Amino acid sequence: MSNQRRAARLPSTGLSDRRGRALRDLRISVTDRCNFRCVYCMPKEIFGADYRFMERDELLSFDEIVRIAAAAVALGVDKLRLTGGEPLLRRGIEELIGRLAELRTPDGRKPDLALTTNGSALRVKAGALRAAGLDRVTVSVDSLDEGRFQAINDVRFPLHRVFDGIAAAADAGLGPIKINAVVKRGVNDDEIVPLAERFRELGHTLRFIEFMDVGASNGWELGDVVPSAEIVRRIDAVHPLEPVSASREGETAQRWRYRDGTGEIGVISSVTGAFCGTCTRARVSAEGRLFTCLFASSGYDLRELLRGSADAAGATDAELRDALSGVWGRRDDRYSELRSALPPEAARDRERIEMSYIGG
Ligand code: SF4
Repeated sequence: MSNQRRAARLPSTGLSDRRGRALRDLRISVTDRCNFRCVYCMPKEIFGADYRFMERDELLSFDEIVRIAAAAVALGVDKLRLTGGEPLLRRGIEELIGRLAELRTPDGRKPDLALTTNGSALRVKAGALRAAGLDRVTVSVDSLDEGRFQAINDVRFPLHRVFDGIAAAADAGLGPIKINAVVKRGVNDDEIVPLAERFRELGHTLRFIEFMDVGASNGWELGDVVPSAEIVRRIDAVHPLEPVSASREGETAQRWRYRDGTGEIGVISSVTGAFCGTCTRARVSAEGRLFTCLFASSGYDLRELLRGSADAAGATDAELRDALSGVWGRRDDRYSELRSALPPEAARDRERIEMSYIGG
């Protein structure tokens, strides 16, 4: 990649990792808890009644989250996403959103503030989230079949209440709303076209996510993956599609629009179309570990840095920025690019953080 393009990609802070990738997106998990037990993310067998979730004082406080976000924004981040577990379970989330909405980039812009949710509490909370300063929501919907939807979330949560939440979010102005659907062969791939048709009708952009080997609890097998090319082919056969170029560096989804102009879909191809080359994302877990890749096995402890220890005072904002830029500057992650070259047992046995812990 030419220095000119690399120079063009770098934010005004000039911070980049070892592959010339800028830090532009920060995903912040605000809780490790969820009220769903989606079988590909938080299976009941592992996250059962006796599973020990983090205590309140183990979680980053709102002050600490805002300090980390402010440091990241000062280093070039212009997109903040709140995740979980289920972020709407975190008490006072509106207050946190209000404080994050006050942040400004070095050139005075308000960072884009988004949230990923299972939609279960949206109907009740949408208005307050918007009023607090949230810009957008992404909602997970893996099936339109009531029985299958409830089987996937495994807590018998009804689908219609998620659709009520999506409607409330649209009414509140939390858009453009994006819908995520994880496709697993033999589970919900027969719904690829019906899902596309339903959200085209509703005017929401549906992103199909290839089933990924995130964590170690979803029993991932390559054979369960429906490649994005096949997903596009299936839809195109019924509703002709054409590719759309990315609107932002580091966009995870490849975009396709319906040739008749009635909307878009996206495909997120971590398995068959790695996009590590433009990956500008860092993630912070609910207890303050900074991860530079979704498939990482260890993270940098920001909570200890902030809170200090017996023999070290908590960090200043400048020290926090130095720590963040140090971690990013040493970053060399590209797991999705490497996955296919790894021997199957090495990929299987590689320790990885759980999706429910880091929020995708
Ligand atoms: S595998 Fe890691 S480096 Fe590659 S796109 Fe995903 S998060 Fe980014």
